[in-house]
Amino acid sequence: MEINGTTVELDLRYSEMNLSPGLMRALSEKGFTLATPVQAGAIPCFKDWKDVIAKAPTGSGKTFAFGIPMVEHTDPQGLDVTGLILAPTRELAMQIQDELRQLCAFLPGIRVACLYGGQPIERQINLLKKRPQIVVATPGRLMDHMKRRTVRLHKVETVVLDEADRMLDMGFIKDVTHILKQIPNRRNLGMFSATISREVMDISWVYQRDPVEIVVRPIQENRPKISQYRLKVDLGGKVDLLVSILEKEKLDRVIVFCNTKNNTDRITGLLRMRHISAQCIHGDLGQKVREQVLTAFRKGELRVLVATDVAARGLDIDDVDAVINYDIPEEGEYYVHRIGRTGRAKHQGAAYNLISSVTEDIRLDEIARNNKFEIKPITR
Ligand code: ADP
Ligand code: MG
Repeated sequence: MEINGTTVELDLRYSEMNLSPGLMRALSEKGFTLATPVQAGAIPCFKDWKDVIAKAPTGSGKTFAFGIPMVEHTDPQGLDVTGLILAPTRELAMQIQDELRQLCAFLPGIRVACLYGGQPIERQINLLKKRPQIVVATPGRLMDHMKRRTVRLHKVETVVLDEADRMLDMGFIKDVTHILKQIPNRRNLGMFSATISREVMDISWVYQRDPVEIVVRPIQENRPKISQYRLKVDLGGKVDLLVSILEKEKLDRVIVFCNTKNNTDRITGLLRMRHISAQCIHGDLGQKVREQVLTAFRKGELRVLVATDVAARGLDIDDVDAVINYDIPEEGEYYVHRIGRTGRAKHQGAAYNLISSVTEDIRLDEIARNNKFEIKPITR
């Protein structure tokens, strides 16, 4: 891990962080004793009200990196919102709320509310009447509540932008800056992201003061055990090859990544024609459909999830049997995220790359070189 550009190896236990007994109990119920690197970097800074900008790969424990110090700062007797977390999608907001509630399991009095579009606003107004101290929200819906004056942010001390890059990518930059401007007593701002984009830096320059920069690289740390393969095939033969990998390797839970929405739709159809249960997710699908697909996949009702990078980001889906890159991603960083979905929880994972052009071959070589990955060729 790097803090402000300096490499540090921090093996920090939660018990060394001066956390309250209730929080320690919640962590030990979950079986967690050692903080993940991004947590080891961010929690102490956040507790001191410093601004933090943290870049760490998916699955590195970013939620608790801001959740633990936010809960520690929360007054169980308080009646005002003091902690605000913004997230790009409803699923992510709900996931964060869920994790925060787990942290608060033994801290009676701390209330967490979640505000997102698509749910009747009245229900959320009732939640807000219960005076939560922590609010997790998507920017659009929070703005609605601000306009209706059903939420008051004048006592907010900590603001977190989770999946900051994606949120700003999705066109929330105006909403986010508007919200930040409405918080007069903010003490610190945390931005957590798997990648740091230009827009994230813009927000940082304007709204953060001497932020502590934490970078967790996917390569040295958290590197899961993943066997990576490359297979050469004619473009027209990719789907058949895909099916034969599924069958030969007896894969039951697989994510197939494509670079375009069009491809996800097309491949899904072609897989179904071959009697493989498959569904796709991409940015154009409504929240409801996306949620249904993800639930089916989590429950094991779907063998194949076909996804674009954007749609798959930030979702708590991991531990799949294998990741198959139907298209080689344009960005090396996407590749690292994609394969990080497999090889978790001590299981061996596998990533298959289907190559049908010289360009894809070159791109994969480049990814292998930059990340020091070994990608073994399979010849059939
Ligand atoms: P990110 O936001 O970086 O993608 P999450 O916060 O969703 O990652 O965490 C990924 C998983 O790791 C979650 O299931 C979470 O409960 C788990 N986790 C968090 N902290 C620890 C820890 N200290 N040890 C083991 N697992 C952890
Ligand atoms: Mg996250």
